[in-house]
Amino acid sequence: MTEEKKWELKDYKSDLKPIWCPGCGDFGVLNSLYKALTALQLDPKDTAVISGIGCSSRLPGYLNTYGFNSIHGRAIPIASGVKLGNPDIEVIAVGGDGDGFSIGGGHIAHAARRNINMTYIVMDNQIYGLTKGQLSPTSELRLKTKTSKYGSIDTPVNPVSLCLAYGVSFIARTYSGNPKHMVEMITQGIKHEGFSFIHCLSPCVTFRGKEQYDYFNDNTELVPKQHDPANKGQALAIGESMTPMYLGAIYHNHFTTYEDRLADFREKHKKTDGKKLLDKYRIQKYDEK
Ligand code: SF4
Repeated sequence: MTEEKKWELKDYKSDLKPIWCPGCGDFGVLNSLYKALTALQLDPKDTAVISGIGCSSRLPGYLNTYGFNSIHGRAIPIASGVKLGNPDIEVIAVGGDGDGFSIGGGHIAHAARRNINMTYIVMDNQIYGLTKGQLSPTSELRLKTKTSKYGSIDTPVNPVSLCLAYGVSFIARTYSGNPKHMVEMITQGIKHEGFSFIHCLSPCVTFRGKEQYDYFNDNTELVPKQHDPANKGQALAIGESMTPMYLGAIYHNHFTTYEDRLADFREKHKKTDGKKLLDKYRIQKYDEK
């Protein structure tokens, strides 16, 4: 007899109704996250979703899990603290391209090198939506906005290449226009033991227009079947390609997680007298002076 599912999709929904513009790609990400959580049967009280600031960072409010719509660019350090404070819960950090790769850009490297077991979902619309359409770190060269009337002269950041360079242990790209694929990528990211990054192409209909959907529809393809996600060289070539932009699990490897290292460290030092160590350190510092 198959075991009955305890959690249904409605159990992950809060009473708040999303206030995103009709057609915003973030709806697709939220619905995919509901479905991934349902597929994984995660207990809402054992799940925490942490965001920064921006249109997409409203997402934790629409979930019936623990959540925190925090401060600009700080989703990752707060999510790291939540995970290390209670390693038994599932932690998901979410946000936009500006929040993640401009204001909060310095934090990804450290979550990656520690390999903290959590998932980071970035909804990339290549614009600042909440503040009415300025260039973001992923906006393409020559993009004209209210604040770049003559076109951007900045080369955009490629989030996948950056995460590969930082050593993120699971990297996938997906697209709001392909919801089934998005559910699969988010599910794989949450299941991965270690820091996972899900790059979600999530159009902003208000400041990038319907053309952004058209662009992603015409310029995305699934990763080739022969792609080996454990091969970093191949992953870099796949991740850097812009025509097409590949969707799928781009890189996947297993490294020791920070939580395991921390547990190991605690075990090794459980008999160490912390106060004596601290006093010794203080005396050394004093003597050095
Ligand atoms: Fe979505 Fe753009 Fe509207 Fe923000 S401004 S809710 S990103 S469509």
